[in-house]
Amino acid sequence: MVAAVGAEQIYNFCSGPAMLPPEVMLTAQAEMLDYNGSGMSVMSLSHRSEEFLGIQADAEARLRQLLSMPDNYRVLFLQGGASSQFAAVPLNLMGSDQPAVYLDSGYWSQKAIAEARRYGRVVIAGSSAESQYCSALSSNDYQIDPGAAYLHYTPNETIDGNCFDHIPSAGCVPLVADMSSCILSEPVDVSEYGVIYAGAQKNIGPAGLVVVIVRDDLVGRARADCPRLLNYQTLAEQNSMANTPPTFAIYMAGLVFRWLQEQGGLQDVKKRNVAKAQLLYDVIDNSRLFSNQVVSSNRSLMNVPFSSGNSVLDAEFAQTAAANGLKNLQGHRSKGGLRASIYNAMPYSGVEALVNFIEKFESQHV
Ligand SMILES: *Cc1c(COP(=O)(O)O)cnc(C)c1O
Repeated sequence: MVAAVGAEQIYNFCSGPAMLPPEVMLTAQAEMLDYNGSGMSVMSLSHRSEEFLGIQADAEARLRQLLSMPDNYRVLFLQGGASSQFAAVPLNLMGSDQPAVYLDSGYWSQKAIAEARRYGRVVIAGSSAESQYCSALSSNDYQIDPGAAYLHYTPNETIDGNCFDHIPSAGCVPLVADMSSCILSEPVDVSEYGVIYAGAQKNIGPAGLVVVIVRDDLVGRARADCPRLLNYQTLAEQNSMANTPPTFAIYMAGLVFRWLQEQGGLQDVKKRNVAKAQLLYDVIDNSRLFSNQVVSSNRSLMNVPFSSGNSVLDAEFAQTAAANGLKNLQGHRSKGGLRASIYNAMPYSGVEALVNFIEKFESQHV
């Protein structure tokens, strides 16, 4: 299974932009110059054309099917990445005097918190900072003010490699989740959420697209000074076309959604993700060189940080792994160490190649 068609076999463990399924790339390649007999590339189809409207509607329908999404949710395909939603969420949902409640489980939670603070009062109901983010929060670590505008959390922390083992129960307070690095990795009960958003470049498609799923009753509440391009009402009314949407990325996302359906849907996808993660964590836990510090109940299925505790050795590992076709294993620049991102598109064989390499490296260094 090749990551780049025609290239030597490599496995890309980048946290994002991440590898895409080769089948998806091959379809895109075959349709690159002539989409469906139109004589045009998807890249140069008008976003108002029948062909493109068909592509967008098909992508949305497949996403709805994959997530068993209830009808009272809108799907938005937008530019601006997940980070744009760090602002959009408070601008759309924060009442004038209601606090917004955040759970802090790591790097991306903190980014969301910092942005929300620009727009109003933010309460941090719980934080796993004390554990150096080697855990997510458990349900008795926090209490939610029933008068809050919303509760925001990050179910999977891409950099810290932790994930929640439960859906926070927020009562009547709308629950908002940044699912950038875990969306579509397992089934999710959308009805528990007010807003779900995810940057595409981890588990959905190429960069340049953010998918926002928003419950009907949360559309139409934006502050008067909310920029038009962040206003859920404007965006929903205009079918994500308040400006030119990221057309090619939406097309690619649709191909990925179809691929996920062909994989058997999210139950089956989860089984494969669990098997991949287990293989990798087992080898790391049995290693005499490397370790992963995240508590076992909060270990991410998608992002697996590990380290020898020696930055020189870690760097040597990342470098020799890359020379052997295992790319982008260096940790995030804020954290150091190593990290393997094993999203949906990473095949089991890629994780096998990684664990073989870990064992070989270890035998040469211990
Ligand atoms: C990657 C990531 C982001 C940032 O996404 P952009 O699309 O680059 O803005 C935000 N949150 C999480 C959880 C991420 O993994």
